[in-house]
Amino acid sequence: MRWFETMIWHDHAVCSECFARLKRSDIAERDHWGNEDSMSWRTESAVLGEDLIEPPASVANCAPMPESKTTCAECGSVRGLSQSETLSTSEAIDRVPALAARLQEAGYHVDTRRIYTAVEHLKGLDDYTADDKQIFATAAALGVQR
Ligand SMILES: [Zn+2]
Repeated sequence: MRWFETMIWHDHAVCSECFARLKRSDIAERDHWGNEDSMSWRTESAVLGEDLIEPPASVANCAPMPESKTTCAECGSVRGLSQSETLSTSEAIDRVPALAARLQEAGYHVDTRRIYTAVEHLKGLDDYTADDKQIFATAAALGVQR
């Protein structure tokens, strides 16, 4: 659980909602524009949110936040923070490939099939079904071969 939190959940370069990589910080990796001099840049999965994010209706009188935010283009999550809504089983399953990819990037050998099985199983358990973070943390631990 702890390594999962450190590596995935609290990593703002990774979307906590769908595990898409929002930023790369590895200097050895270049995007297709060759932006190797930047230590951190957005991937195709992230877009600047200024044009996309409308203020919620409750604060409609407020001006939009002036600073740009990194918004996940995969799921619309702002700044890679997880939304509070619980995922459906199929939505959770949809996250598995991205989660597995992030784990592999972190240097783990991943059995993606075990993560699929674990997510599907845990989503069916009353004790787990509302706690997506716990589900992904548990599934990730099961899928990682140390
Ligand atoms: Zn996302």
